[in-house]
Amino acid sequence: MIDPFGRTISYLRVSVTDRCDFRCVYCMAEDMTFLPKPELLSLEEMARLCGAFIRLGTDKIRITGGEPLVRRGVLTLFQGLGARIGNGLSELTLTSNGSQLPRFAADLHAAGVRRVNVSLDTLDPALFASITRWGKLEKTLDGIFAAKAAGLAVKINAVALKGVNEDQFDGMLAWCGEHGFDLCLIETMPLGEIDGERADQYLPLSQVRARLRKTWTLVDTDYQTGGPARYFTVAETGGRIGFITPMTHNFCESCNRVRLTCTGTLYMCLGQDDAADFRPLLRGGASDEALDAAIVAAIARKPKGHDFVIDRRETAPSVTRHMSVTGG
Ligand code: SAM
Ligand code: SF4
Repeated sequence: MIDPFGRTISYLRVSVTDRCDFRCVYCMAEDMTFLPKPELLSLEEMARLCGAFIRLGTDKIRITGGEPLVRRGVLTLFQGLGARIGNGLSELTLTSNGSQLPRFAADLHAAGVRRVNVSLDTLDPALFASITRWGKLEKTLDGIFAAKAAGLAVKINAVALKGVNEDQFDGMLAWCGEHGFDLCLIETMPLGEIDGERADQYLPLSQVRARLRKTWTLVDTDYQTGGPARYFTVAETGGRIGFITPMTHNFCESCNRVRLTCTGTLYMCLGQDDAADFRPLLRGGASDEALDAAIVAAIARKPKGHDFVIDRRETAPSVTRHMSVTGG
């Protein structure tokens, strides 16, 4: 599928639930109201829709959420999609907070998953508890090492938060190097109402990189994972560090992805409100041809880019839905 700006759309991110066992400060309010079950697509409906995307040329699917591994029965979706690897799909991955990985890592590998992104914003137990509100560092670390033991390549994702974890990255870079994990730093994006001020959390990664360079030799690479991160090799560890800078650098020109929410709504851009709702089609007995036509029509509306701004004078987020709804 080619969008109006000539970009090939071959990557689908699927949020399988808006629920989570954590309440990260930049992602959710503490008293989140989650969607009632009937509004969510069933796993069978999700599998059918993913099948349509694969038919239309999608070759990479990432399962996300909310926390994807808290959705009951989610392994069946991984197994069904995993069976398409080499037969339409080239890769099936997930993004997780790691808490359930001790239980799932081996089964995910058996289903065909080879890479997992785990969110970890600090290695300090008290700070981890305060950022995630409900999480325990030890559980996430157990999950990370279970994934490694199961043969999954692990990438650590950390959101850079001003005055919160900005002093953590040297230690995390060393730790990732030691264990063979790539590290990817992400700027906060203005998605959804949270408790507190977004502008207070925003930390430009250009500053973080300049600071890291005082200790580490970051060598430019052209390594790409098909995502928006810019990667450097860390000469001292041989590992890699990536920077995702949606705010300081516009990453939209090479966008290859669209996002499906757990209710069957397709967002053609993380930072725009235009969307296509597939649930009525799925529940109204639409044929495969009708589904395909609706997907192609949605891709034809993919916008050129986001217009995120973090403005101290604005109290409302740029986009009102939370990252846990669209799928990070
Ligand atoms: N629960 C899983 C996890 O935490 O990895 C998957 C979903 S989570 C929404 C996906 C990613 O989005 C995480 O790495 C998280 O740190 C990031 N994220 C959440 N809210 C964000 C925001 N407002 N700005 C930037 N990244 C955000
Ligand atoms: Fe949950 Fe992930 Fe959002 Fe944290 S970032 S609250 S782990 S969905």
